[in-house]
Amino acid sequence: MSAGPPRVAVVGGGITGLAAAYYLEQQARAAGREVEIHLLEEAPVLGGKVQTEQAGELTIEAGPDSYLARKVAATRLAQAVGLGDALVESTPGRLKTYVYHRGRLHPLPEGMVLVAPTRIGPFLASPLISPLGKLRMALDLVLPPRQEEGDESIGAFLRRRLGDEAVEVLAGPLLSGIYAGNPDELSLLATFPMFRDLERRHGSLVRGLLRQARGARPPAAGQTRPPAGPAAPGEARPPGAPGRRDTPGSRSAFVSLRGGLGRLVRAVAGALQVTRVRTGTAVRRLERGPGGLGHPGRYRLTLGDGTTLQADAVILAVPAYAAAPLVEPISPGAAAALAAIPYVSTAVVALAYRRSQVPPLEGSGFVVSHRERRSVTACTWVSSKWPHLVAGDWALLRCFVGRAGDEELALAPEPEILAAVRRDLAEMMDLRAEPALTRVYRWPRAMPQYRVGHLERLARIEAALAAEPGIILAGAAYRGVGVPDCISQGEQAARQAAAFLGL
Ligand SMILES: Cc1cc2nc3c(=O)[nH]c(=O)nc-3n(C[C@H](O)[C@H](O)[C@H](O)COP(=O)(O)OP(=O)(O)OC[C@H]3O[C@@H](n4cnc5c(N)ncnc54)[C@H](O)[C@@H]3O)c2cc1C
Repeated sequence: MSAGPPRVAVVGGGITGLAAAYYLEQQARAAGREVEIHLLEEAPVLGGKVQTEQAGELTIEAGPDSYLARKVAATRLAQAVGLGDALVESTPGRLKTYVYHRGRLHPLPEGMVLVAPTRIGPFLASPLISPLGKLRMALDLVLPPRQEEGDESIGAFLRRRLGDEAVEVLAGPLLSGIYAGNPDELSLLATFPMFRDLERRHGSLVRGLLRQARGARPPAAGQTRPPAGPAAPGEARPPGAPGRRDTPGSRSAFVSLRGGLGRLVRAVAGALQVTRVRTGTAVRRLERGPGGLGHPGRYRLTLGDGTTLQADAVILAVPAYAAAPLVEPISPGAAAALAAIPYVSTAVVALAYRRSQVPPLEGSGFVVSHRERRSVTACTWVSSKWPHLVAGDWALLRCFVGRAGDEELALAPEPEILAAVRRDLAEMMDLRAEPALTRVYRWPRAMPQYRVGHLERLARIEAALAAEPGIILAGAAYRGVGVPDCISQGEQAARQAAAFLGL
């Protein structure tokens, strides 16, 4: 290849781009080869959606606050960059998750495995689902599995198996929290393929989840847990719907970091040895450079300041709508498919109170039934669920605003978002006190939507870029939005780049 070491441009300094640069360095080192890596980030800071703010005694997560423990890529990376001791599990003990429905907060019935009750008594006693709704859910045990192949929406699947009420009150709020998405639009095969598998293998979703749960470990009284089994590509933590509660000594489903997830960003950036990191540097244009395949400088990147950079391979770790115009001159077909991946805007509102000002927060938070008309879609009681983020006498809440079909407020001016959230908290939690601190983090076009047919769209993008193996796509838009999914995709992108460059 080139006379000097091969050069790779990593575009985007979110967790995907950082992981890609980190693992590419590791691979080159292991192979005893040199590589030149340029990490180019448009924003003035690294981390993308992973941002942590320190405000006195409060550590406030602007984006993600934790990740699914069983997806090991994030823990592995944290350990590799020296943060093994800083990993922290969600509070052990009886933390209830609530669902706001029919004007009040109801605890999720004990023993729920996402949508399936593993303990019949508490489920029947819970007023959350009406008697008719419960009967309809029971039909799942006898309804035949769908025979047709092909994708369907997760909403259609769950409505078919469990009925409308279970979707709107339970599954919808819990599941769509992950994508801020509409379950009736999200792809079953791209989000929870294991549900289709359970339906086929056990003839019933509830029976399948029950058998899986029993095979894993019986849930203690009061537990809820996310579905086990094959990794759902898009599985992240539903905001404020903190999956499973733990008995003392049991392992938690979710993991975070003392000091916040922003530490991971700083530690990975700090561990980069040869990568030249440039923040405040957007890539405006990408085109074929003077070199052909196998020659130096196959690609030319034009940066925000008008300068250019030649590279032998390019890892695009940016949102799909940012990747689309970059690949357009090279592959208009891939660009069109990338541009068609929809995004939803959300906002996170953090509010801190003195503990005495708020009702006791005995739980990890609540999600909001899709039958309620509310601005807040979910709320995490941070000081209960993640006490390591809060010192002193504070109660910290994080509320989420905006989801598919209801994004207007998430894009509104900050005072408007804050006022709407405070109105909701007053009515939903009887929380009327003046917060001592507030933060509004707006995330325009933050959550990629894996709509029905997402996997086919990915196949089209891959086919369109097959002739261009030096251009590699990675990140939340493709095969999982969770932090560990993004890290895995960054690592995979590094492997692809190394293979392409013969490292
Ligand atoms: C509010 C919120 C809460 C979340 N909660 C959780 C959670 O609890 N658990 C979990 O696992 N996941 C969660 N997620 C999802 C997860 O945080 C994201 O999917 C993940 O961080 C995305 O990482 P990324 O590197 O792929 O993309 P990004 O973080 O979007 O990074 C892409 C980077 O590319 C840069 N960029 C764009 N265009 C250009 C260009 N032309 N040139 C140079 N740079 C460019 C951007 O500035 C950005 O920094 C949450 C997401 C949000 C928004």
